[in-house]
Amino acid sequence: MTQYWCELAWLGGATVEAGVLIEVGEDRIGAVTANLPEPPAGAERLAGLTLPGLTNAHSHAFQRALRGRTQAGAGSFWSWRGQMYALAETLDPDRNLSLARATFGEMALAGVTTVGEFHYLHHGPGGVPYSDPNEMGRAVIAAAGEVGIRLTLIDACYLEGGIGTPPEGAQRRFCDADAEAWAARVEALANGTSLRIAAAIHSVRAVPPAAARVVAGWAAGKACPLHAHVSEQPAENEACLTAYQRTPTQLLAEAGAVSSQFTAVHAIHLAEADFARLGEARAFCCLCPTTERDLADGIAPARRLRDAGARLSLGTDSNAFIDLLEEARAVELDERLITNQRGGHSPVDLLRAATADGAESLGWPGGGRIETGALADLVVVGLDSPRLAGTGAAEALAAAVFAASAADVRHVMVSGRWIVRDGAHLTLDVRAELARATASLMPA
Ligand SMILES: [Zn+2]
Repeated sequence: MTQYWCELAWLGGATVEAGVLIEVGEDRIGAVTANLPEPPAGAERLAGLTLPGLTNAHSHAFQRALRGRTQAGAGSFWSWRGQMYALAETLDPDRNLSLARATFGEMALAGVTTVGEFHYLHHGPGGVPYSDPNEMGRAVIAAAGEVGIRLTLIDACYLEGGIGTPPEGAQRRFCDADAEAWAARVEALANGTSLRIAAAIHSVRAVPPAAARVVAGWAAGKACPLHAHVSEQPAENEACLTAYQRTPTQLLAEAGAVSSQFTAVHAIHLAEADFARLGEARAFCCLCPTTERDLADGIAPARRLRDAGARLSLGTDSNAFIDLLEEARAVELDERLITNQRGGHSPVDLLRAATADGAESLGWPGGGRIETGALADLVVVGLDSPRLAGTGAAEALAAAVFAASAADVRHVMVSGRWIVRDGAHLTLDVRAELARATASLMPA
């Protein structure tokens, strides 16, 4: 056992604890003892506030290359999507690997210890499969391994360009022939120590109801998480209502997709009955506020979702911005703007979404907690930056959520191994990786 004595640590309660000894075995936490005024002999002292590892429950790593290149213009989600497709057309497995490695590296520096990569860029140009049809997914898996970050590869079934329309252009690279072909391809991927394979229905735009039922059945058979983009844009709802006389949530529920293993990504434009559908199932709703504001999607009704019984998780989605603490506070602060009310979500609620609930939504139950037997994933936030200087124990939790940033992350541990010390990745030059991976990727 290696011993770490934390000045302050959040153990899941309403306040932080002082003088917390965390004993780490192979890859799990062996013991946690609070209220030790001094570090025992042989224990390493960790200054600042120690949190459980942060969980990024929804990412498309390759979209990191769009940062700064698509945000200044006018348009909507749909015009942005055209730019994203243009990028997707330029990627091959090598570029996908380097982009994912750089993006996961940036996440590691921001305290993310577990990422859910919602993976839909499967095949080669024109939709022709690579000789290993999972080559693009294996590039993502290799990238996570090189960074040392825990990964859930959420492989997305994608079959249509829009409801009832064939895929065109870049979309052909996303598509399998049918849901059975999707399942057969994903069957060839296996869980590992730091890897989970999960399923996704890309959206009701891309997967018809009968195929959604096949994917939901596959996920249920594997007892693995099932994710879907849900009601990100009003136009998706309108198309779904026109074609099927049902909301996207209703359609997915009738296909057997909505359960306690299900994550509705975005869940912004919901009908009244959708709240009960998601809440009664104890489903997760993954909010991605920095992407949602960038793409003019809207503000998710997070408080109503929680009140209905749904659990919240957080994602950096397009990776235009990578800071889980910003995603967490945005859930509360964005809602303040439209409700004229403060305090719908406590710092503890927001941190739980960023840690334990996110981990569970990605198939790591018991992750994202500092307790005996939990995965030894830790993040140490320094409290001495200009943003946080003067923060004491009483306000440390609120300060971490409302004022800290990714730049305050000092040390990051995954499975008992440090991957980031003093703000630097131990094996990767993340800045150089990002510069190399994103340079000249975007078509002019
Ligand atoms: Zn997404």
